[in-house]
Amino acid sequence: MTTLSESVWILGDQLSPTHPGLAPNRRVVLIESLARLNQRPYHRHKLVLIISAMRHYAAELRAAGYDVDLRVAPDFLSGLRDHVNTFGVQHLYCLAAAEYATRQFQHRLTAELGIPVTILPNTLFLVERFPPPRSPALMEPFYRMMRRQTGLLIEPDGQPTGGVWNFDRENRRRYDGRPVPPPLRFPPDTITRQTIADLAVACPHAIGSVEEFDLPVTRAQALTALDDFITHRLPDFGPFEDAMSAEHELLFHSRLSPLLNIGLLDPLETAQAAVNAYERGHAPLSSVEGFVRQIIGWREYIYYRYWELMPDLLQANAWQAERPLPAWYWTGQTRMRCLHCVIQRVLQNGYCHHIERLMVLCNFAMLAGVQPQAVNDWFLECYVDAYEWVVTPNVIGMGLNADGGRTATKPYIASAAYIDKMSDYCKGCFYDRKARVGPRACPFNTLYWNFLINHEERLRANPRLGPAVLGLSRLSAAEREAIAAQAEEVLERIEQL
Ligand SMILES: Cc1cc2nc3c(=O)[nH]c(=O)nc-3n(C[C@H](O)[C@H](O)[C@H](O)COP(=O)(O)OP(=O)(O)OC[C@H]3O[C@@H](n4cnc5c(N)ncnc54)[C@H](O)[C@@H]3O)c2cc1C
Ligand code: SF4
Repeated sequence: MTTLSESVWILGDQLSPTHPGLAPNRRVVLIESLARLNQRPYHRHKLVLIISAMRHYAAELRAAGYDVDLRVAPDFLSGLRDHVNTFGVQHLYCLAAAEYATRQFQHRLTAELGIPVTILPNTLFLVERFPPPRSPALMEPFYRMMRRQTGLLIEPDGQPTGGVWNFDRENRRRYDGRPVPPPLRFPPDTITRQTIADLAVACPHAIGSVEEFDLPVTRAQALTALDDFITHRLPDFGPFEDAMSAEHELLFHSRLSPLLNIGLLDPLETAQAAVNAYERGHAPLSSVEGFVRQIIGWREYIYYRYWELMPDLLQANAWQAERPLPAWYWTGQTRMRCLHCVIQRVLQNGYCHHIERLMVLCNFAMLAGVQPQAVNDWFLECYVDAYEWVVTPNVIGMGLNADGGRTATKPYIASAAYIDKMSDYCKGCFYDRKARVGPRACPFNTLYWNFLINHEERLRANPRLGPAVLGLSRLSAAEREAIAAQAEEVLERIEQL
């Protein structure tokens, strides 16, 4: 046994090769906490990804000369106590956890362990590498600040490359049937297969199946996946960013969030890789700017918002929505084709892309008045990239507008017209995408117009929703009554939709 008296505790979502706590004079401790793994019935893909990536990371650190203690423990505290006692640790380092409860736990550690514990700033997020934004910042000024701070797509005179800050208008195309390059698959190796076997015993209540597990679990594989995206899908990323397809789960999205969220990829190198592709003429500016916006804009903004709004965010319910989540969110058994397809793929792989999360899953939940915390729980449990810092502001803030508009300035609600414009789901659906009343009326339509009617005054006060609310003035009193009556009936039989 070596005589190192310092250790760094690295969490399963901090598997960065440049983790700031790594030092030649420190031992590394990684803990597979059974309590944390079973805190919820998580998706099996997520559990396998984290534990396999931790085991590979430990092996790589050992190969690089680090002394690594990778241990299974009932919970973090008992694992850390055993580690400290076994190795006579005098000083523990850790990187501030991205999630609130774990960071609170880190702050209690000095008292719990009886040794000094130093918490380093979490520089895996860019917003922690630069001076903080002036609070409260909205997404657009936040994004421009991040562009200036990172220098990505910024000209020497300080102006944005291409003369404008965003290309959203070019980036709203419906999928046109062009070939979609499939993402690279990374079949499970020996360590991953052992992880799958171990977790089958350790986490009996997990959801989903692992048969299709094919995610990268090492830094080298993560870089290969990044390169695959940049080479094959980035050029079409922008125009089809908002498109949805029954056939193609991924379209031109990156599927990099699971890797970014556990530290296998760094946000700056990921965005830089896209900018490099633009500079060598491989991808158009509209796609590259769109992708850079997601990474250094939305992702960082969401993390920043989480820490601004916690812990109150967890209980926020600005629209007083109290309905339970329909049971078919757990099975996909609904005649609404959009929800059926999207839920099926989430249950299968723990993934669907952004617009389906926002404009199908959250849109329906918001229009139906589903309780925000129930929706938040569902997202936390079902996705391979789900962590509280990213789920809660996206679901409770952006998707359900339950934080009083502090994350997004308008509720993201829409009728079937939007889903039909951006997807092929409505073709072949049991429901009629054009009708808002009648036996086959699309529930999105009925509930959308009912929502506008019920909240007319409040929505009218929001300038970003003006045109939608104006549509109400074209409805007669009889039409309003018919919509309200049908909405009541739809909500009564919500489990049978
Ligand atoms: C209701 C809802 C729930 C979400 N839940 C999660 C979640 O659990 N985990 C998660 O990582 N993202 C979540 N997002 C954000 C976004 O939908 C996913 O990051 C994205 O779909 C992941 O797929 P991708 O890697 O193919 O993304 P791409 O479309 O290829 O985008 C590139 C990257 O941008 C980042 N990004 C884009 N938008 C956001 C955003 N709003 N918040 C944070 N990062 C963003 C992601 O890191 C993503 O990998 C959620 C969004 C909504 C509206
Ligand atoms: S008609 Fe309505 S329920 Fe059916 S796919 Fe379109 S939006 Fe979804």
